[in-house]
Amino acid sequence: MTTLPNLPTADFTFDPHQLGACVAGLRPYRVGSYRLEGEVLAGKYVIHNYGHGGGGITLSWGCAAKVRDMVLRRQAATNVVEREVAVLGAGVMGLTAATLLVDLGLHVTIYSDRKPAETTSYKAGGQWAVSILEFSKEFAKVQEMQYILRVAYTMFKASIGKGYGVSEVDNYSVNATSGIDVVHDLVPGLLPQREYLPRLPFEGHSTSGYRYRTLLVEPPIFIPRLERDLKARGVTFVNRKFINSADVLTSLTQKVVINCTGLGAKNLWNDPDMLPLRGQLAMLRPQPNLEYLYGQNGYLFPRNDHVVIGGTVEETCDETFDPDRCLELVRYMAGVFGQVPPEPMPEFSVHHPRNEPLVDPRMSIAF
Ligand SMILES: Cc1cc2nc3c(=O)[nH]c(=O)nc-3n(C[C@H](O)[C@H](O)[C@H](O)COP(=O)(O)OP(=O)(O)OC[C@H]3O[C@@H](n4cnc5c(N)ncnc54)[C@H](O)[C@@H]3O)c2cc1C
Repeated sequence: MTTLPNLPTADFTFDPHQLGACVAGLRPYRVGSYRLEGEVLAGKYVIHNYGHGGGGITLSWGCAAKVRDMVLRRQAATNVVEREVAVLGAGVMGLTAATLLVDLGLHVTIYSDRKPAETTSYKAGGQWAVSILEFSKEFAKVQEMQYILRVAYTMFKASIGKGYGVSEVDNYSVNATSGIDVVHDLVPGLLPQREYLPRLPFEGHSTSGYRYRTLLVEPPIFIPRLERDLKARGVTFVNRKFINSADVLTSLTQKVVINCTGLGAKNLWNDPDMLPLRGQLAMLRPQPNLEYLYGQNGYLFPRNDHVVIGGTVEETCDETFDPDRCLELVRYMAGVFGQVPPEPMPEFSVHHPRNEPLVDPRMSIAF
């Protein structure tokens, strides 16, 4: 068993009223499962790829590969290659799907009512973990998930050091129930094994915990990089808000449509299973001496742009942040590291990442 010397502690100085200090985003959570399937509607082949909750960055390349495979299968089945493809959505799902479709030599246009830097994807914390996400336990769906995880992890890992904001990091966690364990269970051997530590190596800690090895994908680097690459390869971004599915089906000329509208699919495709789960983040100044992730009833992710403290879940469609709540989150985390007297866990915080399906998120907000 390893006993490690203490790692550096964050400077928790935080002014929630400073510009950019607080961020809120709505996770596109789908009860039962994310949606990844194709259907033929009004002569168009529509592939839905939305509802990835708190794990969309993680799954993105894998889901994009499934979308590509579906397009190829459709081409083979119909013996027709439709060269023009419409991708709806400029978040991580739309951008990664578009990338793999351009790889096939297809001409892709991205339609979105937000710029990539305004999407939920841009606001994500960025840990590679299956978090706040439901997926079906049916055999075929488990196999699909295994494929998605394998492809996504392999692609992210291959992009380390190439300007995509991806790095390999340790995550120290008090509890063993983490979204990384889901990956260990589903695809044994994909990630390095977790390690039990008799004491977590931090000031203010006397309890045992675990060290995981995973990836950090920094959205403020990853998302603009995908956008730049796509534009350089001739992809056009069109600012457009669709009202409903009929609007999509009648106004677009493309015969292949990839629906990556995240939470927007709730109204656009009339999907009652979509729920907005707000996450609030406190953004501390960047601290390059911190080279680890940390999780306990909330998380601390040191990134190049900020040290991000988050892990809250609230069911609401209000996308605004609450400075007092963000301050509460920072004080809680500072208490965990012995920098201020311990504060009670904010009631809206959850252990992140989590691996239990949220059957009813209203029941599982405080746990
Ligand atoms: C606080 C927070 C922390 C997170 N941390 C992590 C993490 O650590 N790891 C991880 O893997 N995931 C994390 N996530 C989850 C991740 O951000 C989402 O799962 C992911 O961004 C979903 O991507 P998307 O492309 O489906 O949706 P979005 O990024 O929301 O993109 C949807 C796109 O569709 C467009 N659109 C929607 N409706 C319409 C319409 N009617 N007409 C035209 N365009 C439309 C939008 O403009 C947008 O471009 C976090 C999320 C939050 C909020």
